[in-house]
Amino acid sequence: MNLVVGAGFSGATIANLLAESGEKVLVIDKNRHIAGSCYDYRDKNGIMIHAYGSHIFHTNSEKVWNYLKKFTDFNTYMHKVIGVIDGIETHIPFNFNTLYDVFPKSYAELLEHKLLDNFNINTKVPILEFQRQDDDDLKYLANYVYDKVFYHYTTKQWGVSPVDVDDAVTARIPVYLSKDDRYFQDKYQGIPLEGYTAVIKKMLNHKNITVKTNTDFKSVDWKKFDRVFYTGSIDEFFNYKFGQLPYRSVNFKLETHNTDYYQSNSVVNYPCNYDFTRIHEYKYYLNDKSDKTVIAKEYSEDFELGKNERYYPVPNDDNANLYHKYLYEAEKYKNVYFLGRLGDYKYYNMDGAIQRAIELFEDL
Ligand code: UDP
Repeated sequence: MNLVVGAGFSGATIANLLAESGEKVLVIDKNRHIAGSCYDYRDKNGIMIHAYGSHIFHTNSEKVWNYLKKFTDFNTYMHKVIGVIDGIETHIPFNFNTLYDVFPKSYAELLEHKLLDNFNINTKVPILEFQRQDDDDLKYLANYVYDKVFYHYTTKQWGVSPVDVDDAVTARIPVYLSKDDRYFQDKYQGIPLEGYTAVIKKMLNHKNITVKTNTDFKSVDWKKFDRVFYTGSIDEFFNYKFGQLPYRSVNFKLETHNTDYYQSNSVVNYPCNYDFTRIHEYKYYLNDKSDKTVIAKEYSEDFELGKNERYYPVPNDDNANLYHKYLYEAEKYKNVYFLGRLGDYKYYNMDGAIQRAIELFEDL
C-alpha cells in the first residue's frame, strides 16, 4: 500500500500512475478540498474561481500534455498580461508593442532600431542582463523597464528588490524583443474546460485509489505504508528540526461587481502603484457568462506557520543549503519520496510538477 500526502497535481499524478500500474494508494490532504493550489470552483454566479490565483496551463512537453489530455479537454486560451505603467495599459512582458505604448512614436522607433542592431529578433533577455548596455538610449530604456516593470512589483511580491531575488525568478518574465504579446510561448496552452479540480478528481477516480481530505499527515501511521510520497513541505516532515524553510504567501481579496467585466483582461499587473501586485478577473478563462464579475486583488506577504499558506519557495543560497540538509536527512528513509513545489522546494509551474511526478514514477 502507498501513501500519497497532498492531492495537488504532484500527488494526483503519482497516485494515478501507481494506481494504473495496479498498486493500491491512499491519498490524504489536510485541506477540505482536493487539487491543492490549483483548486477552483464555480461560485453562485457560475463563475469559475481560481481560489489560489490564476492558473494557466502551458507546456512544451508533449508527454505532459498527452497525459493530461486523458482527463480533460482544453480551450485555446493563450494568456496575455496587461500592465499599467504610469496609467497606461500596455503589455507585460515588455516588448516592441510596449515601446510604442509608453514612448512617443519617434523615440520608440529609435529604440526599436537600436534594439534590432544589438539583439536578435524574438530573443528573451532577462532584465538584469538587459541592464548591461553601452548605448545611452538603451541604458535609459533598461533603467526605465527595471524601474517601471520590475522594481516595485518584485519588491511587493518578494519583499526585496530584483537584485536580491534569485536571477531565475525575474528571468521568468524577460524583456521580449518581439511583437508577440503572449505571456507564454509554449506549444500547448489552455484552460481545462471543466476546471482544474475536475481534472484532479478524474485523476484520483480509480478503483485502486482512496482519497481522504481533512486528514493531517500527523494523524496517519505512515511507517505502516510500503512507500510514502510526500508533497508537503519537506521541513514539516522533519518537524522543522533544522529550522523553517521560508516561503512567500499571497492573500487574495475577492470582490464581486455588478458589471459584465471589471477590467480589460484576465490579469492586470500594477507594477508602479498600489500595494497589491495584480488583479485577476476569473470569468475570462472559460468565458463564463454572468451579469456579475468576480475579481481578486493579490497581496503578497511572508509565509507564517498557522497564519497563511505556502505559495512560493524563496530561492537563494541559504535556503538551498537548508533544503539540502533536509534532503540529506531524507536519504535515511529509503521508502519516502519528496516531490512538488513544497517537497522539492522548487518554483515549479504546473507542467513541471506533473513532469517531475511522471519521472519519479518511471524511476521507481
Ligand atoms: N515580475 C515583475 N513585474 C511584472 C511581472 C513579473 O517584476 O509585471 C517579476 C517578479 O519578480 C515576479 C517574477 O517576475 O515574481 C515572475 O513573475 P510570474 O508572473 O512568472 O509569477 P507567478 O505568476 O508565478 O506568480
